[in-house]
Amino acid sequence: MKESTKLVCAGRHPERFGGVVNTPIFRASTILAGSMAEWEEMKRARAAEEPGATTYGRYGTPTTHALEEAIAALEGGYRSLVFPSGLAAVSTALTALLSAGDHILVTDSAYSPTRSFLERVMTRFGVEVETYDPVGGKSIEELLRPNTRVVYVESPGSETFDIQDIPAISAAAHKHGAYVVMDNTWGTPLYYKPFAQGVDVSIQAATKYIVGHSDAMLGVVTCNRDTWPLVKQTTQDMGQTAGPDDIYLALRGLRTLEVRLQRHGESGLRVAQWLERQPQVEAVLHPALPSHPGHALWKRDFTGACGLFSVVLRASSKASLEAFVDALEHFGLGVSWGGYESLVIPFTPGKGCTGARWPYQGQAVRLHVGLEDPQDLIDDLQRGLLALSARESRAQDQEASAAQACSS
Ligand SMILES: *Cc1c(COP(=O)(O)O)cnc(C)c1O
Repeated sequence: MKESTKLVCAGRHPERFGGVVNTPIFRASTILAGSMAEWEEMKRARAAEEPGATTYGRYGTPTTHALEEAIAALEGGYRSLVFPSGLAAVSTALTALLSAGDHILVTDSAYSPTRSFLERVMTRFGVEVETYDPVGGKSIEELLRPNTRVVYVESPGSETFDIQDIPAISAAAHKHGAYVVMDNTWGTPLYYKPFAQGVDVSIQAATKYIVGHSDAMLGVVTCNRDTWPLVKQTTQDMGQTAGPDDIYLALRGLRTLEVRLQRHGESGLRVAQWLERQPQVEAVLHPALPSHPGHALWKRDFTGACGLFSVVLRASSKASLEAFVDALEHFGLGVSWGGYESLVIPFTPGKGCTGARWPYQGQAVRLHVGLEDPQDLIDDLQRGLLALSARESRAQDQEASAAQACSS
């Protein structure tokens, strides 16, 4: 089955729901059994992990199982679990795999709340957390220790968009008995197939492109056979569960993922190419641009690009950045991404992401290119860049007249 067809079919069983095309929203805590024998059978089926088997709302309803089945099929994993947010998916998967005395390597460009969870929470339980430079530093082989249990990767990295060689990292990690956990939100289940590249656990912040409309929070963890029992048990032990209405929105979003992503990807690249030619732009960090240091790896491992990338502006001050952002009409100022609308958010690369790792002088913003007409978006950015230039030259004039006042 081709990917487009899989997107339409995955997790759907109309025959179970009176022919209804979409798996309905099942709101349930209690699920009744007709007899003691039936109750025992329900418990047995759940323990045996039979498709759709449940005994209580917290373990999921047919709505939950539909999304889990779909994402596992699309990412090429064994099974999936749904969480109330992307971060809940991250924190639960890591809690499942790590114990006191273990060491975890996490890329310095991983989503910053993921790094905070490791540094604030997991260290309290005796886990050694080490951040590494995904591109310029030592090789993973040199960093792996006998007690390294997890290598946590995100490719491209949040904000910096560096691409990691996941098959090489996976081979090294597996040789040392470590699991590879990947945040695959940028690649989506469509453009990056983590299990084919050696990943053991894949995470989707479904809040982004899977929901796709900026109206629900959700996360998904997909496991291979090895990691599945650990992650499933911890998920149940921690009481993690997600609401059926949000899951329904993710299922609905999923069916149009490919057509939306195509547009996000094409418009994003067109905007990125245009930005690269502008004098006010120091750098465009987009893996699909040949100028990107990770372009060859991206081309080798990904089948597409979404609409998220970063831009470094030749802005000498916060005031110029402010002029740029405030002049934009179509790029909303706010976090998150993956919805139909364009967004802009300034950022400062995290500690560790400096020096050779971050050779830029200017102010950085992350852009999400939405489904608007790309020419309108380019016109909007043009407006922003003109406002930036105006602010820059005003600042230069002020500097010049201040220098003149001093010397006279
Ligand atoms: C947003 C995001 C998350 C977290 O998802 P939430 O649903 O906001 O908790 C995790 N990873 C990446 C790369 C993200 O962009």
